[in-house]
Amino acid sequence: MKNSWLLVIFFLLTTLTSTAKQLPGNKPLPRVAIAGIAIESSTFSPAQTDEAAFHAHYGKDVLSGYPFFAEDSPMLKRATWIPTLTGHALPGGVVTREAYESLVNKTLDSLKKHLPYDGLFFDIHGAMSVIGLDDPEGDFITRIRKVIGTKTIISTCMDLHGNVSWRLAENTDLITCYRMAPHEDAMQSKERAVENLLERIESGKGKPRYKAYIPIPILLPGEKTSTRIEPGKSLYAEVAPAAAQRGIVDAAIWIGYAWADEPRNHAVVMVTGDDMDRVKRTAEKLAQKFWQVRNDFVFVAPSGSLQEALTNALASKVHPFFISDSGDNPTAGGAGDVTWTLTEILNNPAFSKEDGPSLIYASIPGADFVEKAIAAGVGQHVDGFAGAVVDSRFAPPVHLSGTVESIIYGDKDAEVEVAVKVGSVHVIVTRKRKPYHKEIDFTRLGLYPRKADIVVVKIGYLEPELYAMRADWILAITPGGVDQNLERLPYKRIKRPMFPFDKNMKDPDLSAKWVPLSDHLKRTEK
Ligand SMILES: [Zn+2]
Repeated sequence: MKNSWLLVIFFLLTTLTSTAKQLPGNKPLPRVAIAGIAIESSTFSPAQTDEAAFHAHYGKDVLSGYPFFAEDSPMLKRATWIPTLTGHALPGGVVTREAYESLVNKTLDSLKKHLPYDGLFFDIHGAMSVIGLDDPEGDFITRIRKVIGTKTIISTCMDLHGNVSWRLAENTDLITCYRMAPHEDAMQSKERAVENLLERIESGKGKPRYKAYIPIPILLPGEKTSTRIEPGKSLYAEVAPAAAQRGIVDAAIWIGYAWADEPRNHAVVMVTGDDMDRVKRTAEKLAQKFWQVRNDFVFVAPSGSLQEALTNALASKVHPFFISDSGDNPTAGGAGDVTWTLTEILNNPAFSKEDGPSLIYASIPGADFVEKAIAAGVGQHVDGFAGAVVDSRFAPPVHLSGTVESIIYGDKDAEVEVAVKVGSVHVIVTRKRKPYHKEIDFTRLGLYPRKADIVVVKIGYLEPELYAMRADWILAITPGGVDQNLERLPYKRIKRPMFPFDKNMKDPDLSAKWVPLSDHLKRTEK
């Protein structure tokens, strides 16, 4: 009797574990961890980013960030997932060392609890800058390797504006990045990284045998490298067919991130696979193509100085005329409170009269000014200063003296937004910085960009809704933490020679460099 009960219990236990942890062929499900933090942070901006900005997800919550891990999704059933921590911050200034260490240590602690792993999905952007630390993503993955060992297959997915250091390439086994800018394929790319990882584990093929790495001495701003227009369009169109070849697992081109001053900031091509010759030829072909078209990258819109942009906008027969105040674009890493452009506009006599050409300026943070506007009330006069708290390098706080047009509360970024009319300019002042990308961001405040003569936004390329309503558009090359004129930035530590800074540089060596497989890391680290 006792024995038969034991048998029943044994039978139940084995059935339960087999449904939970095994594939039909009695193979146990692979154990795959998920980790990674993402931000692009400018070292040319005095702003700093703290831990809260990453809105970290922990444990099971991590899965909700990926549609391909939805309940009932086929992918979810293919592994025992061990999500640790993921975080994603809006672009900004450098990350504080405390924030970085805290996020990394939380990830490592979580990884230590659930060892061992067959795979790890490393989901990063690749353009994080941390105070006092070079190559944060390379540091992060090295510390992950120390915890999980060298057997685990790591698959990394990145933004094409991220940077791939040799150390990151060494520690990862599979690596890919987005193939579209704007990044409409972000989720698809992450899914590809996970699919590649599962395929290598399930098939028993393990780590790809070859990783080719080619650094390309090119630095370009994102606003010149859209894949909707040439030459980015045809360059990136070559990636998917390259990756689809037999013997290749993945192919990727990184534009890199231009607003950080480190040796790792430059373009990179990487190809992974099992066919040595094809991996090499594919990587070299993509790198050659990139180098050949380097001079053809231009801004996605006509560009010019702010003065040229305003002159054109005032003379234009069509409206609204959009101007991107691109140097302080908060969604690229600018502080978002540079007052230089607004100061120039308010000093322009064309806008000094109430009934002058209407211009909407979006936007400037000014917590004190917002309090003054609330105290004065809608329809009343307000006088105060805004902006230049974080970044005052180009102009001091801007003096605003005008009429409060509207006040609204509750936006998750801005908290409070105020429209104030100074001369013929409608200035949006916010308690905290906020990007203005949608029509409703304006209409909520009683401002109508479609009816305005000129709309100036702290932005790079126009987001779809603004792009759709523009009658004309100039990208003004204004100063700030993400100045689009890279030649104005005080680089000291990037590798030289580098296109476009060194005019007569020789053609670089674009032959594939073989990155050692991660199995060898133990030896090299000792
Ligand atoms: Zn990007």
